[in-house]
Amino acid sequence: MARYTGAVCRLCRRENLKLFLKGDRCYSDKCAFDRKSYAPGQHGQRRGRKISDYGIQLREKQKVKRIYGLSEKQFKLFFQRADRKKGVTGTNLLISLEKRFDNIVYRLGFASSRTHGRHFVRHNHFLVNGRKVNIPSFQVNVGDVIEVKEKSRNIKAVTDAIETAVRREIPKWLEVDKGNFKGVVKAIPAREDISMPIQEQLIVELYSK
Ligand code: SF4
Repeated sequence: MARYTGAVCRLCRRENLKLFLKGDRCYSDKCAFDRKSYAPGQHGQRRGRKISDYGIQLREKQKVKRIYGLSEKQFKLFFQRADRKKGVTGTNLLISLEKRFDNIVYRLGFASSRTHGRHFVRHNHFLVNGRKVNIPSFQVNVGDVIEVKEKSRNIKAVTDAIETAVRREIPKWLEVDKGNFKGVVKAIPAREDISMPIQEQLIVELYSK
């Protein structure tokens, strides 16, 4: 299935959680979830519906997939890689999603959402250790220096994102030098650094069926 291209605020309402998909708007009183926090659609306000175990696992997978803006195929690929690695599959999955380049650009405050981060990366606005990298799924490593390209530093979307990112906390495993449009990966994120309410074990159970 291709990436979802419909109204993204519906996704937050579907997952019953603010997924922060629309940048600045998510922090304003225009946030659709804050105004209507029930599921979208004709039956969205029905209460007391019983959800099967499969339904709960599916929702968890959809939620994480939507937070990181991945298609079904891309998400499954990340899961399969996480499963092949040593350690706990669910934790491996979340950490490899956090280490995506488009997520790092967002987390450093150089983009107002992961979607914008992905566009900026694809459009060659960033360097990693002085080299051009335009692959959103690129996995960063400890010590990597991420930098907005000199020519791209005046782009309004970038300067606006930097200005508004003060509302978000920079994770402690990253360090940012906004004045020089640079950031450094100080450490690999630990599970506890991922603060969104995610029960990754449910995703592992879903894919183990
Ligand atoms: Fe979700 Fe942001 Fe839309 Fe609010 S504004 S519903 S947080 S995408």
